[in-house]
Parts: sequence; C-alpha cells; structure tokens
Amino acid sequence: MGQVWVKCFGVGDGWPCADRKHASFLYQVGKASILIDCGEPIDSSFKATGLSYDTIDRILISHLHSDHIGGFPMFMQGFWLEERKKELPVHMPAEGIKPIGELLKASYIFEELLSFKLRFETLQVRKPIMTKGVRITPYHTAHLEGLRKSFQKKYRQKFEAFSFLIEAGKLRIAHSADIGKPEDLAPLLTKPLDLLVCELAHFEAEDLFVYLREHKIKRLAFTHLARPLWENLKKTKQLAAKCLPGVDITFLRDGDEIGF
Ligand SMILES: [Zn+2]
Ligand SMILES: [Zn+2]
Repeated sequence: MGQVWVKCFGVGDGWPCADRKHASFLYQVGKASILIDCGEPIDSSFKATGLSYDTIDRILISHLHSDHIGGFPMFMQGFWLEERKKELPVHMPAEGIKPIGELLKASYIFEELLSFKLRFETLQVRKPIMTKGVRITPYHTAHLEGLRKSFQKKYRQKFEAFSFLIEAGKLRIAHSADIGKPEDLAPLLTKPLDLLVCELAHFEAEDLFVYLREHKIKRLAFTHLARPLWENLKKTKQLAAKCLPGVDITFLRDGDEIGF
C-alpha cells in the first residue's frame, strides 16, 4: 500500500474564523494524492508544504459553499504560474462546472496560458472515481436540503453536496465534508472504517457522537466545528469522550497530519 496520510490545511467552519483556515484536505493513499475541497487560503497552505504542483492527482469539490471553493481560482493561478505539467481532473457538482469555468476566465486564467490540461468532471452519486489503485465513491448528503426547499423555485439548482469513501485494498477512510444530519453518514459506515474525518457544525454534536457509537471506527477526527463548539473546545472534547469511550478521537487543527 505504501504511505497513507491526510494533511489538514483548514479545519474552520463556514463562519469567518480568525484562528482557522477553511476546508481543504490532502489525502495521500499509496501513490494517489487527492485534494478534497479548496477553502481559502489553499494556495498559500499548499505552497508552504514544499510539495510540487504536480503532486496532486485529482481535486474533489464536495459542494459549492464558499468555505469549500473560495480558494479555487487562486489555486489554479498557482498551478499556472508554477507550471504544472500533469493533467488535472477536478470533480465537482454538475452545476458548478460552467460558472466556475467562467470565474476562471473572468480572472484571466485562460486554458491557453496553462501548461497542463484542466478537466472538469461531474460528481455522480455512488459512481466511483479510480485513481492509482484508489477508489473514491461520492455519496449524497442532505447538507443543502434546507436551502433547496427555500430557494429552488427561484434558483433552479440541484443543491448537491457529497461525502466521500476512499478505499484502497482493505483500507477504508471516510470524509464527511458537510452533511445535514448524522444519518447522512450511513453509506460510509456499512463496514468498519480505519478513519472518519467528520464535520461538527450542522446538527447537535451529542446526536452525532451517539450515532457514531453504534459503528466500528478505528479513528475519529473532527473538523469544521461550529464556532460555539470550537470556542468551548474543552467541553466539546469532554462530551465526545463521554459518548464515545475508548475511541481514538482527534479534534483537528490547521496543519495537522494524520498518518498510518
Ligand atoms: Zn462548510
Ligand atoms: Zn457547506
């Protein structure tokens, strides 16, 4: 299998955060490098790693909230100026492809300037993406259902949000991205997980902890904590430890790296 790690560039939620960057995670699974989400300032955080701009094999955008895509144009400018060579597939909800393509053009990031092929792909529920022996399966979450109900008559969008299951050999890692309720995690939890990277902003924390208690998860890493949970981190940790005794739990900070 080779090396497996996840680098947490930003663990903030959707609110302005003075002490947390926005959502972006680099998964290295064997030879595959997969970036999930491009919350800002991903370009600066990535540059600071010293990694080559050819490292990332694919980018997955879980949904189109700004805390998950706000850093995308600058990151593409980075790939341009650092002269990436490899084709770059970017998978995102279908409704993002056209406007984000237009945003790049409006930012003068033209395909003629790029030394690599930038390719947008639509994320499809339960349709796995294969890369270097790693299988990534997107699942729908109910994160944007409330907005859909309120606004879909006026804004005819699909309001899609995705979580991801990353599998390689026997290794199973799940990345919740933004969900609507703990039960959204069900398709990720049908078999034991080696790691769950899970958000903690859009439901009662205790409901999620109690829900997770029924499932086999070797390691739990929480991110995207709602501001009150982050500001009372000690209490949040105590509650998690009480609800999930004996589970290896981490509350992530920017720059953390989880290795295997
Ligand atoms: Zn978010
Ligand atoms: Zn969101």
